[in-house]
Amino acid sequence: MEDAHYKVIIIGSGCAGLTSAIYTSRANLNPLLIEGNQPGGQLTITTDVENFPGFSEGIQGPQLMAEMKKQAERFGTKFLSGEIEEVELEVRPFIIKVNDEYYKSDSLIIATGASANFLGLESEKKLMGFGVSACATCDGFFFKNKEVFVVGGGDTAIEEALFLTKFASKVTIIHRRDQLRASKIMQEKAFKNNKIGFIWDSVVVEVLGEKETGGTGVKIKNVKTNEITEKKCDGLFIAIGHTPNSKIFKDKLEIDEKGYIKTFKGTQTSVKGVFAAGDIVDKTYRQAVTASGSVCMSSIE
Ligand code: NAP
Repeated sequence: MEDAHYKVIIIGSGCAGLTSAIYTSRANLNPLLIEGNQPGGQLTITTDVENFPGFSEGIQGPQLMAEMKKQAERFGTKFLSGEIEEVELEVRPFIIKVNDEYYKSDSLIIATGASANFLGLESEKKLMGFGVSACATCDGFFFKNKEVFVVGGGDTAIEEALFLTKFASKVTIIHRRDQLRASKIMQEKAFKNNKIGFIWDSVVVEVLGEKETGGTGVKIKNVKTNEITEKKCDGLFIAIGHTPNSKIFKDKLEIDEKGYIKTFKGTQTSVKGVFAAGDIVDKTYRQAVTASGSVCMSSIE
């Protein structure tokens, strides 16, 4: 049994977790960072990142994460790869089980993020970052004067579509029903925007294109008639919701109905000494820079 006892354990290795590692290791707290099943987090599945301050020419997502990791290592952060099997928050120090070993910590910083939901298509996975995206704020700029499709019928899909009209020549929303789930006010904005079109009762069954060419189109199935048609487009934005990675904290921390960890007075959770920040608490902004910024607060707290 591992008997290491830390002052701080950070859970999550996306830009939130790594920012926390930089701050807490520079404060001589000798943190341990547990990486989870997607080391580097969501930015490792994007290509160009042009809105993270400090990189005038932009930077590739995976490279940005590698640099952040190096920066955290430089100040002595220890990294542990593995997924958490269990957390015990009723005792002090807190106990965490990873790879069948137990780790103790006086405080915890939870930065497990949220995962964008995807359609689950092979072609979607292949073209991720090469025409397929789950973030218009991040990637909209690359589709200047191009035609893009957005999948989803909720507020996020509409918000993404409206944002994309600043760049794209045409934005088509593909929704699996004939009614949007989005709030009335968002719906009105979308219906009024003459750059936005709709394809109803339809689902994407294949994304067309190659990594070299980027997206070239989509195959769409009408769920009422089962008819399959091919449509040309340069990019596909998936906006079908996010799932916060909070499963292991169920019944241990206060979590809202959507699965986001609740915080009180800054980044404190319902258990004293346990802090949460980044996309695991944020259903609104979901940016690398906001995740880094909010977890910087946790680290200082
Ligand atoms: P959401 O409200 O859960 O909507 C997800 C949409 O994706 C739904 O239209 C759903 O279709 C569709 N969908 C889900 N799985 C799908 C699949 N496998 N294939 C095709 N379509 C699929 O998620 P969200 O839009 O991300 O919003 C999350 C929360 O944040 C909501 O409470 C929302 O109001 C809030 N939010 C608010 C704002 C704002 O106020 N400005 C902006 C963004 C988000 P169905 O409709 O058929 O279920």
